[in-house]
Amino acid sequence: MAGVEEIEYIHVRIPLKTPFETSFGRFTHRESLIVRVRAGDFEGYGEIPVDQGPWYSCETVATALHISLDHISKALLGLEPTGLEDVTAALAGIRGHRMAKAGHEMAIADLLARERGIPLYRLIGGARREVEVGVSIGVIGDARELVRQVSRFLDEGYRRVKIKIKPGWDVEAVKLLRREFGDIPLQVDANASYSYRRHREVLLELDGYGLLMIEQPFHYDDLAEHAAMQRELKTPICLDESVKGLQDAMAAIEMGSCRVINVKPCRVGGLLETKAINDYAKGRGVPIWIGGMLESGIGRAHLVAAATLDNVGYPCDISSSSRYFEEDVVEPPWTAEKGIMRPLERPGIGVEVLEEGLRRYCVRRYVVRRW
Ligand SMILES: [Mg+2]
Repeated sequence: MAGVEEIEYIHVRIPLKTPFETSFGRFTHRESLIVRVRAGDFEGYGEIPVDQGPWYSCETVATALHISLDHISKALLGLEPTGLEDVTAALAGIRGHRMAKAGHEMAIADLLARERGIPLYRLIGGARREVEVGVSIGVIGDARELVRQVSRFLDEGYRRVKIKIKPGWDVEAVKLLRREFGDIPLQVDANASYSYRRHREVLLELDGYGLLMIEQPFHYDDLAEHAAMQRELKTPICLDESVKGLQDAMAAIEMGSCRVINVKPCRVGGLLETKAINDYAKGRGVPIWIGGMLESGIGRAHLVAAATLDNVGYPCDISSSSRYFEEDVVEPPWTAEKGIMRPLERPGIGVEVLEEGLRRYCVRRYVVRRW
């Protein structure tokens, strides 16, 4: 491949159709940094789905811009990668900042796949042609509205329902859904809002509802309390925030802190690390699934590719673009049909990025070039 000549960062702010609430707060827009890398006749797209503040992740729009402009771009300009390993090696001197690194690695993955004329999922060794997807519902706090939303998503064919919980909105919500919808595939995500000491009883109670999994109940860095809780639960614990890379995944699995891992490629540093976790977990009999961060259609393309990996054993959090956005920045928008999404059989991410869409939502744009 020709050397990387130019990297462009487009900070976008895309309005959400309806506000999304988690234990971190209520969001009306998706902030993101779109990364566009150019080399020779090709370009590739990645996304760094950071928030304005350090909520889900310690990385923010400002930290991602700083690390990208001052460090990552310097390490990548002029690089002639022949595979994603070369990107990892070039960025090895930069500690942490995995989301910022992942956005660049994904852009180069797209570029490499386009150059080779193959779909992105094949570049990373994906094994499936279709991906089962589920829907994630924020903390609603209103029983009737929750039932209305779940009913609509089940009608749309989503393969499982995940609801966000936080102390005070948990057992009652689950009980309600079991009463209304019976034995649907259902799971909950606490986004680290509980503690073993204060909420053990709540989790033991949730254990009686046949949930597919309970996601990240405890601290975002914890493995020990999750291991203690997992020993007391029939329901698998799924770790999300606690797994920031392969090392964490290995520790979590070996300590018995979880029986499932939600891998967000941006959280673990990219597609290669996602594959490494996929392979390690597979060897230990622990399934993974791919989670999302309300990415635009660009980040979503990378999620779909990751979800084709062979150890993905549950429906993934990758819903249709129309679930969150009036208009996506890609064409065609990502659409799940009867709970199935398919990677496009076209080079790279497969979707066309709409310049007009990027411009419409652009807050600021930065370009760095090789001299
Ligand atoms: Mg989660």
